[in-house]
Amino acid sequence: MPILDEKLGDIYDEVLRRNPGEDEFHQAVREVLDSLGPVVAKHPEYGDAAVIRRLCEPERQIIFRVPWVDDAGNVRINRGFRVEFNSALGPYKGGLRFHPSVYLGIVKFLGFEQIFKNSLTGMPIGGGKGGSDFDPKGRSDGEVMRFCQAFMTELYRHIGEHTDVPAGDIGVGGREIGYLFGQYKRITNRYESGVLTGKGLTWGGSQVRTEATGYGTVFFVEEMLKARGDSFDGKRVVVSGSGNVAIYAAEKVRQLGGTVIACSDSNGYVVDEKGIDLDLLKDIKEKRRARVSTYVEARTDARYVEGGSVWDVACDVALPCATQNELNGRDAATLVKNGCAIVAEGANMPCTPDAVRLFADAGVLFAPGKAANAGGVATSALEMQQNASRDSWSFDHTERRLADIMHGIHDRCLESAELYGKPGNYLAGANIAGFIQVADAMLALGVI
Ligand code: NDP
Repeated sequence: MPILDEKLGDIYDEVLRRNPGEDEFHQAVREVLDSLGPVVAKHPEYGDAAVIRRLCEPERQIIFRVPWVDDAGNVRINRGFRVEFNSALGPYKGGLRFHPSVYLGIVKFLGFEQIFKNSLTGMPIGGGKGGSDFDPKGRSDGEVMRFCQAFMTELYRHIGEHTDVPAGDIGVGGREIGYLFGQYKRITNRYESGVLTGKGLTWGGSQVRTEATGYGTVFFVEEMLKARGDSFDGKRVVVSGSGNVAIYAAEKVRQLGGTVIACSDSNGYVVDEKGIDLDLLKDIKEKRRARVSTYVEARTDARYVEGGSVWDVACDVALPCATQNELNGRDAATLVKNGCAIVAEGANMPCTPDAVRLFADAGVLFAPGKAANAGGVATSALEMQQNASRDSWSFDHTERRLADIMHGIHDRCLESAELYGKPGNYLAGANIAGFIQVADAMLALGVI
C-alpha cells in the first residue's frame, strides 16, 4: 500500500479503531485518502475544519428489525440498515441492497462511495445507502412483497423527498421498488413520487433509469476511448454479472460497435464468441429470474464454465458489473497478460486494491466506480427533477442528458487529476473532484 502522509494516516487509524471489523468500509476510505495528499497540502482549511474526519463519520446510522412471514407461515427476522452519510450537497441519495452478505460495513462502504459519486455528477444530492441481509433468491413474489412492506414499515419514518431518497441496488429492482413505494404511500397517505427512484414508467419513473448505470458506464468508456482517438468498434468486451448493470452495459457496447463475449453470475460464466444474445439474457434474468447457466440450452455453440473466473476470457475492455472485490490481483494479472487496455467499474469497488495497483503499473486505463457507474444515480436525480415538476421526458432526451453528464464526469476527473499532478489518473481525479465539491459545501455550512 502507498504510504499516507501523517495527518491522513492519523485519520485512517481513527477510522480503523472506531469501525472494527468493517473491512469494506476501511478499503473504501483508504482508496479515497490515498488520493487526497496533494489536496490537503494545498488546502489547509480542510484540515482546520476537520472536514475529512467529519466525512468519515456518517451523519446518522439506522439499524432495525424486519419481521415478516414466509409462505409456510414461519416468522422470519432480517436486519435492515440505512446509513445517512452526508447531506452537505442535498438529501441523502443511494440505493438499497438486499443480499445475505449485507452488514453494516458493506452499507457504510457503499454510503461513503456514494458521497463522492453523487458529488461528481454535479447534481444536488448527498450520499446514503441501505439494505438488508434478506436473500430474495428463491423467494416467491408474495414473500418479497411482505418483506418489502415490513422493511418500509420502519424505513418510512426516516426518508422523504427532501430528506433521504432510496433507490435500487443488488437484489432491489423494479418489483421491489414497487412494493416499497406502495407501502410508503399506504402508511403516509401521500403520493410522494420523489421519495424513491427507480419507479415504474406508469407511476412516476423515468425513461432510461433501468438502463442508466450500464449505459452510463459505457458512455464513460467511450469518452476514455475518444480521448485517445479510438472507439468501441471491433472491441472484445467482457462484462461480469448478469444483473441490471451488466445487461445494459452489454446493450450499449453492442450499440456502439463492440462485442460482449462473456458474462457471469455467482455460480459461473458463459462465453459466446458471436456476442452475448441480449434478448435471451434478458429473458433468462429479467423474466424467468433463472441462472446464466441456462443460456447454453438455447445457444448451443456458447459454453458455460461452472465456477472459475470470467476474467480468464481475453478481452480489450473489462467491465466488472457484479459486486465488490470480485476482480483480484490474479484476475488483474491475467487481464494484463491477455492485452486488456481498459477496465471500468460498473459495480461498486469490484477491483481489489492489488488489482488496481497492477493496472496502474501495467498502464491499463482504470475508471473507478464512483465515476464510471455514476450514471445510475444521476438519472435518479433526473427522475427526481421530473417528479418535482410533474413532467416526464422522452427516452432520447433523457439518454442525451445521461450522455452529457457522463461526458462531464469524465472531463472533471481528467482536469482534477491534471491540476493535482496526476495526469491521466482517473482514480485520483475522481476522488479529488468528488471530494473538493463536498468539502467546500461542508466548509460553507459550518461545523454541523
Ligand atoms: P443485480 O442484483 O441486478 O445483479 C447483480 C449481479 O451480480 C447478478 O448477476 C449476481 O449474480 C452477480 N453477483 C452478485 N454477487 C456476486 C458474487 N459474489 N460473485 C459473482 N457475481 C455476483 O444488481 P445490479 O446490477 O443493480 O448491481 C451490480 C453492481 O452495480 C453492484 O456493485 C451495485 O452496487 C452497482 N451499482 C448498481 C447501480 C444500479 O443502478 N443498479 C448503480 C450503481 C452501482 P447472482 O444472481 O448469482 O447473485
